[in-house]
Amino acid sequence: MQNRGGSLQTPYHNSFIVDLFRKTSKNLVRSAAAAFFGHFNLNQRPVLADVSHKSIALKLMGVLMTEYISDRRIRRQAPKYYLILVAWPVYIFFLPCIWSVSKLLCAFYLLFVGVYLYNEMAQLMHECWHKYTPNINNNFFYTVYSYFLVTDPQIYRLVHGYHHSKVNSWDDTEFHPVGRINNSFLRRAYNFVEIVVGFIFILCLLTQVLPRHERYRDKYQKSGNIISICLWIMIYGSIGLASAIIFDLTVSQIVVPYLISLWLCSFAIHHDQLIEHGGLIAEGDIHQRNVATRNLRHDTLMQKIILFLVHNDAREHVLHHTMVKENSRPFPGTIPMPENAVYISLADYGRILLDMITKD
Ligand SMILES: [Zn+2]
Ligand SMILES: [Zn+2]
Repeated sequence: MQNRGGSLQTPYHNSFIVDLFRKTSKNLVRSAAAAFFGHFNLNQRPVLADVSHKSIALKLMGVLMTEYISDRRIRRQAPKYYLILVAWPVYIFFLPCIWSVSKLLCAFYLLFVGVYLYNEMAQLMHECWHKYTPNINNNFFYTVYSYFLVTDPQIYRLVHGYHHSKVNSWDDTEFHPVGRINNSFLRRAYNFVEIVVGFIFILCLLTQVLPRHERYRDKYQKSGNIISICLWIMIYGSIGLASAIIFDLTVSQIVVPYLISLWLCSFAIHHDQLIEHGGLIAEGDIHQRNVATRNLRHDTLMQKIILFLVHNDAREHVLHHTMVKENSRPFPGTIPMPENAVYISLADYGRILLDMITKD
């Protein structure tokens, strides 16, 4: 009898009983996997005989995690990522030309193309953070979209985890970069600027807060911010220059519509976030704070238009907090909402904004 590598070798090592046990356990795992795949109808291919136990176990976990949304539906999201990569520079390229031809036409273009694409790009960047779509290069898309959105990739990378763990509290740095402002006048003034300027205002604050914040300062890199600024200038400068040369436009015909587009997109995306979390400080544990997240009703034309522009982000946003592992946003109506989910109308949202700038 010899002890090799810590395991005891017995005379029965290659016996009939051991072989029978191995074959039986192998068949049991295969049968269980076949039963699961059959039940969820995800994998009809007869490949189970040649996959390892480990991959069967991983696939079983995958099936269990995608009970509501199949892996195939998730993977079908991939073309969107490539499409936006092309669509956004094309939008930017034609924007100055349309601005110079007709301001009214440009208003529709800014809203139904610009805001629509910018919101989708921001949502997809967020989904890359969560690595929801397995068949794309999440890191690549996350980084490129961050620059297209005029953001520094490290900011969202650092703070989004706390949007989940500290949601609907003053400690959610992504939403409240400076925490609670005790002076009531200053807090209302801050809320007013946040409501008018939007996402860009919060990003500017995060750029100032993160290098000094005890939770983030060791991870934040000043060079990342400088690189980001250079890349924004390069991306928008080169597309703007190409547009100016081809359509024979002046500097102001390029810069003015770009700034309007940036503000409108920043405004729209932040109002989507304010619908979900604006002025909302919830009491209790993580589950109670998660479920307090608001969702926008979708029963009037205006609500439907807004939900269309934000790609349904605010429609069932509570699910992104209560079931964070599920990529729920692209599939509204698929996952049951929590029993006590909070739905608001646009009128309710108007009252929330009013409270933010008037209440002490
Ligand atoms: Zn998230
Ligand atoms: Zn949220």
